[in-house]
Amino acid sequence: MHELRKDPILSRWVAVLEDSKPPHYYFERGIEHIERAGRDSDGAKCILCPGREDKTPHEIFAIREIGTPQNTPNWQTRVVPKPNPTFQIEGDLGRRGIGMYDRMNSIGANEIIVESPSHDTHPEDLGITHMTMVLTTYKNRINELEKDPRFRYTFIYKDCGKTAGELYHHPHSQVIATPVIPKGIKEELDGAKAYYYYKERCIYCDIISEELRAEERIIMETKNIIAFSPFAPRLPFEFWIMPKRHSCAFQDIYDEAMEDLSLILMTTIKKMKILFKNPPYNYVLHTAPNRMPRKDHWHTLGEDFHWHLEVTPHLTTKSGFEWDSEFYILPTSPEDAAKYIKEV
Ligand SMILES: [Zn+2]
Ligand SMILES: [Zn+2]
Ligand SMILES: [Zn+2]
Repeated sequence: MHELRKDPILSRWVAVLEDSKPPHYYFERGIEHIERAGRDSDGAKCILCPGREDKTPHEIFAIREIGTPQNTPNWQTRVVPKPNPTFQIEGDLGRRGIGMYDRMNSIGANEIIVESPSHDTHPEDLGITHMTMVLTTYKNRINELEKDPRFRYTFIYKDCGKTAGELYHHPHSQVIATPVIPKGIKEELDGAKAYYYYKERCIYCDIISEELRAEERIIMETKNIIAFSPFAPRLPFEFWIMPKRHSCAFQDIYDEAMEDLSLILMTTIKKMKILFKNPPYNYVLHTAPNRMPRKDHWHTLGEDFHWHLEVTPHLTTKSGFEWDSEFYILPTSPEDAAKYIKEV
């Protein structure tokens, strides 16, 4: 089984794969990526296309035509386990110390969310009704995975473009549920909790008020949702999408906000893609950790955290300084970035 190890200095967990790869793996990987890009871009061998349901692991969830059986066509969105997962669903955590170090089994869930039966439809062209089905699928996965007490956090994310880590050309997102809260999320949660401790207000709600007052970083807003360039992002043209009404967990989103979110997500991605001629990008959903009661859970989580989506186009490469220091350098100001995206 794969193993999770904790860096004792930074408290950061890493996954070490069981079948340790020799150097040539990294060369072959490059070649395989190029081959796959050529082969599945026309859908000829794509395992996510309708009619090839038998080529994927057994379906976990689908929004499909009523009465149609599992693992057959006539679905709108479909969720399957990821082939060769990093986190394995069966087993116990097996957490133990080895000398001064901590390790545990790589228990978790790795799933692929197929966003559409259509091989070549880009997410920004799905239409509001269909994008709402994709978001409903996200909700379903978080709700289901949170029933498992082994999982502390459910990540939903999308990689688009080979250099952003895309697995298939067919439109898809990924789900990873982990037995620990990932470090990046933990730092955000701690920051929000500390702010709440002093001010007794949600930091994200305060950010939204400040952005609405300043106006200069807003890309788009509706009654329920806002998209803006954060004041001090990591990467140029990074933007965040948030519900205006306070809510710590994405899966609690109400229907009206869901339609607004579909509209804003599709529109902002489309604008970004037009502006940069189809750049590789990621988006990641930052939602509350599993709220199942635990001894180390803080009672203000519902008030101090506010779910959001972070969208980052990959426009620059990070230097050694940025990699290591996490001191990022922005060639374009967030104010200009918001203006450029908005004006598309
Ligand atoms: Zn396909
Ligand atoms: Zn809030
Ligand atoms: Zn975040």
